[in-house]
Amino acid sequence: MSNDVRVNWAGNLTYSAGAVARPSTPQELSELVAGADRVKALGSRHSFCDVADTTGTHVLLDAYDDGRPAVAVDPGSGVASLRAGLLYGQAGAALLDQGRALRTMASLPHISLAGAVATATHGSGDTNGCLARDVVGVEIVTADGGTRTFRRGDADFPGAVVALGALGVVTRVEMATDPAFEVSQDVVVDLPWEALLGDLDAVTGAAYSVSAFTLWGEDTVSQVWLKSRAGDAAHSYGADAAGVSRWSAREVLLDLGARDAPGPMHPLAGEDPAASTVQGGVAGPAHERLPHFRAEHKPSTGAELQSEYLVPRERAADAIEAMRGLGAAVRPLLFASEIRTVAGDDLWLSPFDGDTLALHFTWKPHADAVRAVLHDLEDALLPLGARPHWGKIFVASPRDVAAMFPRFADFAALADRLDPHGKFRGGYVTEILSA
Ligand SMILES: Cc1cc2nc3c(=O)[nH]c(=O)nc-3n(C[C@H](O)[C@H](O)[C@H](O)COP(=O)(O)OP(=O)(O)OC[C@H]3O[C@@H](n4cnc5c(N)ncnc54)[C@H](O)[C@@H]3O)c2cc1C
Repeated sequence: MSNDVRVNWAGNLTYSAGAVARPSTPQELSELVAGADRVKALGSRHSFCDVADTTGTHVLLDAYDDGRPAVAVDPGSGVASLRAGLLYGQAGAALLDQGRALRTMASLPHISLAGAVATATHGSGDTNGCLARDVVGVEIVTADGGTRTFRRGDADFPGAVVALGALGVVTRVEMATDPAFEVSQDVVVDLPWEALLGDLDAVTGAAYSVSAFTLWGEDTVSQVWLKSRAGDAAHSYGADAAGVSRWSAREVLLDLGARDAPGPMHPLAGEDPAASTVQGGVAGPAHERLPHFRAEHKPSTGAELQSEYLVPRERAADAIEAMRGLGAAVRPLLFASEIRTVAGDDLWLSPFDGDTLALHFTWKPHADAVRAVLHDLEDALLPLGARPHWGKIFVASPRDVAAMFPRFADFAALADRLDPHGKFRGGYVTEILSA
């Protein structure tokens, strides 16, 4: 884990940027972008691949102030206008002060809004989309230094949200929010694989957000994290005709053969559970329970690599069986692997075009060995329709990845139109837009 802005958070990648700029006003940002040959926004540096790279100037928005409130909620619609450089945890806390909440969050609150949205970052939940799905508007400083706002309903909006930083520097995101709600979290252990495979819907539908952890080689699923939304009767088994839930998510999982966790858990064996969000069924604000890791602690382990594949839900059982078959190959390289679900959206570069099973891998930092095993993993998962996570490590060719997105040509045309000289290209964005 690194705090140096010249390398990514995990320290596996040194950026090619020749300079780092921290514009503090719209005029400074506009002049910087208009005058640059190569320039690219950098978020909180949590991507593992070179999707954020540039050979020019990296733009950080941590000192940026556009003179408007950092977080402003429209009381009628509940839509929040948020500074794009805010971290998810900061946004969640500020929204709570205004009686609102984000609907979903990733495993960590440490990532920036714009960076997470740009790569279709997601949490979990059968009815929760990726973080970008709740975006209803984006304000972007484009190549000429001008500002464009794309709102839902505009023809190009679905191309402008998950955009890999290729269209410009996003300065504001407008997001749909819910009235503030509480979430309680329970962790159960040792769920038999037969129970998960026998009724996947019962497990993933047991709570508002469900995550299962495994190393693939074990007899049981080692941990299941259940995040239950207060007042939400739509999830868990025994909802009666009036929609009132008779069983808690924890009871559903215990009935399927899991056991209560012996105490607070961390998803990675050997890491301190003090870094994990509160467990044991204690309700708290949504933004302090939906992530796995607390904002004031280090997430995950730090010296690691990550990959993730997003599989159409109808192929979920095949994908899980395929991964169990690869257990012996992947297990020695894994810190943890996580199974989540994500609902679909209509964004052109989102890998979630329908209900999706997400298979995540936190690898030990052995880059060559990980890339070697990724070939086997992709041989098994890509034929099932899996797509890689834009911010993580994968080995499929840019041409093959582009072909996985039916609207990719529309996205490339939008990028050409907004950035005719390619100043926002670099690293993986150059590769995929040249595929
Ligand atoms: C410990 C850990 C846990 C993680 N957990 C999850 C998880 O639960 N779910 C998940 O889906 N992913 C997860 N990730 C991956 C992470 O969410 C993504 O890589 C995300 O993109 C990181 O956001 P960031 O702000 O660090 O963006 P960066 O990595 O800095 O940049 C990513 C992309 O966003 C663009 N970008 C950043 N800011 C702007 C801006 N202002 N305007 C335009 N473009 C911009 C960059 O140019 C780049 O293309 C995890 C990563 C780590 C390290």
